[in-house]
Amino acid sequence: MANYIGIDIGGMSIKAGIVDENGKILCKDTIVPRVKEGQDAIAKDMFDLCENVLAKAGMKKEDIAGVGFGSPGTVDTERGLITFAANLGFNKFYLLKEFGKYWKVKAAVGNDANCAALGETKFGSGQNKQNTFFVTLGTGVGTGFIVDGKILTGHKGGGSEGGHICIRMNGEKCSCGERGCWEAYASATALIKQTEIALQKNPDSIMKECLENGKVTGRTAFEGARRGDKTALKVVNTYAKYVATGIVLLVNVFRPEVIMIGGGVSNAGDILLSRIKKYVSRHCFGNAKINPVPQIEIAKLGNDAGIIGAASLVME
Ligand SMILES: [Zn+2]
Repeated sequence: MANYIGIDIGGMSIKAGIVDENGKILCKDTIVPRVKEGQDAIAKDMFDLCENVLAKAGMKKEDIAGVGFGSPGTVDTERGLITFAANLGFNKFYLLKEFGKYWKVKAAVGNDANCAALGETKFGSGQNKQNTFFVTLGTGVGTGFIVDGKILTGHKGGGSEGGHICIRMNGEKCSCGERGCWEAYASATALIKQTEIALQKNPDSIMKECLENGKVTGRTAFEGARRGDKTALKVVNTYAKYVATGIVLLVNVFRPEVIMIGGGVSNAGDILLSRIKKYVSRHCFGNAKINPVPQIEIAKLGNDAGIIGAASLVME
């Protein structure tokens, strides 16, 4: 059985895992990237991380058929280039060339949300589907599209930025500098802001009992809603509509068979999912009577999606 290494690059940690051809992680390890030392130092860190995880698993380099990397930011997959990733200070980082100095192995790099989309499609909730859409609701909103079995990257990897489609003209300010982006309404960051505002206006809401260390989190409104609190229910209903509005826009363009929702907020489960499903089936083009409405599921791979997805890039 062939084995691969998947590397999930993040600003706080870089995770590597040995993944078999069935998408199972055999062994994992993590390092903190030396962001201050520059991108070439990080390439060496990633090689060291591979050696560590191999040693941990009692395997050799020869046992690995390929190494895949998932990186935040804009990734030019053809040139093995991370064009830009703000958190890690990557700027025109030829990752595959740098990594190749340490280990000559089949390698590929992709955007992290695209990798997660591929991983979820191969081994998670999108199995056996050719057209899927993955959205992650976290600090931001990341999207990945699999179209006819392939990752959609757009020209030089600049596409697939679904988080920045505009759902409201002159709306909330987004981290990208524009206004009204989906991310500014549907991210965990936005949900926390919406919850805080609701709580300020309604200080008697049960949500005040749902704080964690005195703070509103992405769970506060869902917890309040489960307890039947009106203010919390309103926050949840509005937030679900924001998420669903972006989904409808993208469904009308790509018409996937399945939509997979991941990221921290997806842990809310059915209280969120049921509302999204209802809105999408009502509002997507042709509605349910004419076109089949995509299945909507919570992503299955959780935190491992990054590693499994990155490894999927080099699986044949
Ligand atoms: Zn934006």
